[in-house]
Amino acid sequence: MVTEVSAVVERIYGDVLRRNPGETEFHQAVREVLDSLAVVLERHREYTEMKTIERICEPERQVIFRVPWQDDRGVVWINRGFRVEFNSALGPYKGGLRFHPSVNLGIVKFLGFEQVFKNALTGMPIGGGKGGSDFDPKGRSDAEVMRFCQSFMTELYRHLGEYTDVPAGDIGVGSREIGFLFGQYKRITNRYESGVLTGKGLGWGGAQVRTEATGYGAAFFAQAMMEVAGESFEGKRATVSGSGNVAVYGIEKVHQLGGTAVACSDSTGYVVDDKGIDLEVLKQVKEIERGRISAYADRVPSAHYVEGGSIWDVPCDVAVPSATQNELDADAAATLARNRCRYVVEGANMPTTPEAVRIFREAGVGFAPGKAANAGGVATSALEMQQNASRDRWTFEHSEARLEEIMRGIHTRCHRTAEEYGAPGDLVLGANVAGFLEVADAVHAHGLI
Ligand code: GLU
Repeated sequence: MVTEVSAVVERIYGDVLRRNPGETEFHQAVREVLDSLAVVLERHREYTEMKTIERICEPERQVIFRVPWQDDRGVVWINRGFRVEFNSALGPYKGGLRFHPSVNLGIVKFLGFEQVFKNALTGMPIGGGKGGSDFDPKGRSDAEVMRFCQSFMTELYRHLGEYTDVPAGDIGVGSREIGFLFGQYKRITNRYESGVLTGKGLGWGGAQVRTEATGYGAAFFAQAMMEVAGESFEGKRATVSGSGNVAVYGIEKVHQLGGTAVACSDSTGYVVDDKGIDLEVLKQVKEIERGRISAYADRVPSAHYVEGGSIWDVPCDVAVPSATQNELDADAAATLARNRCRYVVEGANMPTTPEAVRIFREAGVGFAPGKAANAGGVATSALEMQQNASRDRWTFEHSEARLEEIMRGIHTRCHRTAEEYGAPGDLVLGANVAGFLEVADAVHAHGLI
């Protein structure tokens, strides 16, 4: 039986490789989930017979489109836009848009695939999808970003709707971009359809805590992991890579929970501040000035900046990779383990390479996969949709309490599922199996579609 199911898993993976050539990040994300599913196939024959995994690995729809726009000097640019509507078994497609020069179909598919399981784990009625463009907003004026967003939405709008597909932000897409996208959607459709996008501004349908939610959620998840071991953030040092929304608000919550975040980074290097990262300065540099992280060290005497290098060289108890995929490799994992790091909590999507995950497992380092630990962002997006649907507005306190409850719920579910399926403490297996079962049951109920 065991060899039979592993043959099924290998056949499915072989097909994914063959049918999606060159999409390395997508292959990686699928492999990681498939590695957890043999135990499920042993208990549920129907998933093999009904090709449930194959159906979940195949997006329901993939849209690729041209995005022409003109910069401030009048130069014409042609970018590529993507929206991969991966799975709608649990609700409308839901997932962010990423604007970054590295974006290609394989990256959007890996993100969409992860999103399906992540969204299932939140327990909210949302399916999974992802989109974006290889447009680089860095160094572009507000007017250029607006023209790009308007052109992007001029194609994308026909695929969206509050009951169909609901994008939000991801890397390179924040409330400024969501504003431009929403404005264009409203103008084309002549509908004030608040629930068609999340991450909106607070004055026009946005939800409290949405900006903070991914970072806060990752810290809440880490806290839940520590509680199982009878520990807390008190006295712990954390390093948080990145300096976008996830990192900034991850650091804020680590501090509120009694820990000290001592380092953060951007694509140029990292800063270390043993006194704890000063959030006011960090927000000024990154959110308001959109500058480089080195400016933090210029302003804070207790900090120093390291050009290039790896933030994972900084000794810590808790590592929160919150920048981008595959940023934490085997060397970094070995260094963290050697420096006695105890917890690794993924704030970004798939920031840890498979080899690094293996090293953490062997070293007994507690590891939380992004699809569980960073689900706070999309969960709060679902709360935004809920408020939009009922024309309601919740307080910050109420929204944050809901977020904490959801994150604790996800942790409990992953923890229990890992135990139930014979892998106690393995939150990767717990997240993959729990997420899969939720989606698979709904896929089944809807018949062969
Ligand atoms: N991009 C975020 C994620 O990776 C949020 C998606 C959303 O809010 O729809 O989960």
